[in-house]
Amino acid sequence: MRLHPTDATPTKGPTMPELPEVETVRRGLAPAMEGARFHKVEARRGDLRWPLPKDFVQRLEGQTVEGLGRRAKYLLADLSSGDVLLMHLGMSGSFRVLREAGESTPGKYHHERGKLIAHDHVVFHMGNGAVVTFNDPRRFGSMKLVRRAELEQEPLLRALGPEPLGNAFDAAMLARACRGKKTSLKAALSDQRIVAGLGNIYVCEALHRARLSPKRRASTIATRSGAPHERAQGLVDAIRAVLNDAIKAGGSSLRDHRRTDGALGDFQHNFRVYDRDGKRCPTSGCGGAIRRIVQTGRSTFFCPVCQR
Ligand SMILES: [Zn+2]
Repeated sequence: MRLHPTDATPTKGPTMPELPEVETVRRGLAPAMEGARFHKVEARRGDLRWPLPKDFVQRLEGQTVEGLGRRAKYLLADLSSGDVLLMHLGMSGSFRVLREAGESTPGKYHHERGKLIAHDHVVFHMGNGAVVTFNDPRRFGSMKLVRRAELEQEPLLRALGPEPLGNAFDAAMLARACRGKKTSLKAALSDQRIVAGLGNIYVCEALHRARLSPKRRASTIATRSGAPHERAQGLVDAIRAVLNDAIKAGGSSLRDHRRTDGALGDFQHNFRVYDRDGKRCPTSGCGGAIRRIVQTGRSTFFCPVCQR
């Protein structure tokens, strides 16, 4: 896996996988897991970010994965027992899938994922012969079993806002959520209660596409009564476009992998502003240069000329 060309930039640490990466992982894991039974499960340590349930292995072995879904940055495997296996990649988590055809690492990452066997913490041996390994050097990832009937009360999911690619997310909803908010647009869009699954990278990218400044007050996408300003619609469209493009790029990386035996993640990220401090703004006719500022402790990349 090749590193991003500017990986030596000292201004940032590893980035948390965002919605498109997690969705790509889901699509990569689905063929190995959906409809397959957990034949044998190895939990090589008792904890990731949090302790694994004591009966983790027993509750998985023998169960069939009826579907593999996603909510924000969580993967949700629906099991035949009525349990749901919740999985989160954290900062450094990744999956490898070993099948007869070869090995793959579904997902695209801005930073290289771990490869040391010592960090292979959980291994699923599926009844169809696939071996799915979770590797996580920093152990901020997590796995948890929740009864499907109790999923709506699950604390990790309960407070999440709507899915940005779902029907519940639209200009009216976003304007209502931002009405009267004195925080910046950057902070509002990063708030998982307002919209789920966006992180630093795609918030920066979406704001650039919408030509809105990350420093703009969140309340300015709504009228005083809370109705959506036209900026709200532009922002919703930009968020959807940025995510769909990234998912498409991730999907093509999965397809490429089937054609060749190259490592996954070895393809270009086409970020317009993220990590492009000092580079020329890609908006046609703009001529501005991308700047980096720090907002609520995180780097924001934007063009001060065309983002207002
Ligand atoms: Zn610009």
